[in-house]
Parts: sequence; C-alpha cells; structure tokens
Amino acid sequence: MSLDNTSHPGRPGTSELVPSRYALRVGEIDVLVVSDGPLSMKTPNLATNADPAVRAAWLDHMCLPTDEIVFPLNAAVVRSGGRTILIDSGLGEEHPDFARAGRWALRLEAAGIDLASVTDVVLTHMHFDHVGGLLVDEVKDRLRRPDLPIHASAAEAKFWASPDFSRSISMPAWFPVAAQSAADRFLAEYGSQLRLFEAESEVAPGVVVRRTGGHTVGHSVVRLASGGDRLTFAGDAVLPASFDHPDWYNAFEHDPEEAARVRVGLLRELAETGEVLVACHLPFPSVGHVAVAGDVFRWVPAFWDY
Ligand SMILES: [Zn+2]
Repeated sequence: MSLDNTSHPGRPGTSELVPSRYALRVGEIDVLVVSDGPLSMKTPNLATNADPAVRAAWLDHMCLPTDEIVFPLNAAVVRSGGRTILIDSGLGEEHPDFARAGRWALRLEAAGIDLASVTDVVLTHMHFDHVGGLLVDEVKDRLRRPDLPIHASAAEAKFWASPDFSRSISMPAWFPVAAQSAADRFLAEYGSQLRLFEAESEVAPGVVVRRTGGHTVGHSVVRLASGGDRLTFAGDAVLPASFDHPDWYNAFEHDPEEAARVRVGLLRELAETGEVLVACHLPFPSVGHVAVAGDVFRWVPAFWDY
C-alpha cells in the first residue's frame, strides 16, 4: 500500500460516505477512534468452547450470518499534555484477503494527523492486525526514528522473541505463522525504539498503559483519566460476543482461560465505574458503556455526540 492509495480505489477522507473517525474528549484528553476497515471472521472462531447450536443461536439473535461475520478493527489517537499518541496501527498489508482493512494510515492522513508529529506509539499487543500498519513502507519512513518511543509490555516482547503457542489449542493453523512473521518484522524494524514496561506505564498525563495478559501474555489496555472522566481502550480483551458470553474462548486468544478471566474482571470494573469503553474489534466507533445484565453483561453504545 502507498499513501497515494493505489491498492484501494477511492481516496478516504471527506469523500467517504461512511465516516471512519470519531472524536471525543475525556476531561482534558482528546481521543480519536479510527477505523482501519473491517476484517472477517469465520464464526466457529468466535467461540471454540461453545456448543455449535448455542453459537448459532447467538448469531441469529444478533441478526448475523452463520458462516462468516464482519469483524471490525479500530485504532485510536490520544492527545494529552502536548503528546500525540497512536494506539495500535491496524492491519497494514499483512493479510491480503482482508482487502477492506489496512486503511489506518490513509485515514490518519485524512484526519489531518501528520505522522511526523506523533510523539509516542502504544501497542496493546503484537498481533498483525495491531502492528501491521507500522510495517507499511511509507509509515516506517516517518515512524522509525529514535525520538519516538513505542510502549509495549516486556512480556509481549519476550513472548515473540521465543513464542510458545501450547495453550492456544484452538487457533487456526495459519494464525501463529502469520502472527510470528509480523511480530518478527516489527521487532526487527522497531526493536530499538521499544520502551518496555512490566506492569504499567504512564505515557502522558492521565494516559496509563497496563498489562492484563490473557489474549496474549503481554496484552495491555490503555486507561485514560482526566477531570473525573475515564475511558478504557481495551484492545482485544473485549470482543463482540463478550457481553452476552464472556466465557466464550475466541480462537485467537493465546491463553483462552486467562483471557476469559481478564475479560470478566475488566467488564465488571467498567460496569462499576461507568467509564467509556473503546475496543479494537467492537463495531465502529466502538464508544459505549458496560452494564450488568444478570450474570452476564450488556453493551450500551453511546449516542453519537456531534
Ligand atoms: Zn486483534
């Protein structure tokens, strides 16, 4: 892909009929959710531990197709204390079958965000749909620079240096290969820029990245707090079926049992605090709240405020 958009006809920006960015404020912090474009997911991967009939009933309840569904992909830009922070980077050119994704860089450009002005990158984890955008040549030209720290958990970097997929029993065979390839190239290109943390790190005023583990061993969420407002960017800890079925194992979780524990703990906390949730794979703009519904949860999308 080039920033001149040779691989996708129609330049995004003001000409896009469907919006691809959504701005909100958390106290003094500016947040922009950016859609990278949709992936797709074969529905058995939504819940590898579910009775197929229960999974089919959920899909029917959600008015979704039974075989393959649109799987949204979002990233975010956060501005606080004079810093401009990218959280994740979309798919880039990592999976040509997902031809409608990989638009992150174009959409940042359309939003007037110059990559040269970015001060930090935060990674929730190093799967290719989160680091892929950083591997595009035109992006590398602007983000491979010593003054740009890339914040990630030490556990995540350590995992990809010597990966062990033994707990990921239901992962499709192609996935570890594709994930390792992208992570290897990411570490080769940006390894010297990594700013690793153990448990958490405050990247800018009110912007804290915190390791959760689960989805990957070093998976992290980003928690924003300013002036009494709070928002959590949950990465892949929360997925579209997570509210109705928080105990479902997604096929792409490295440690599904731990991922479910992390998910339930986070959803409980978010329901208690009432803070805003944004997640990578919830439908754009992926801005809403979590409510408790009996012994599961409910996703309450925010009313668009514009
Ligand atoms: Zn993901």
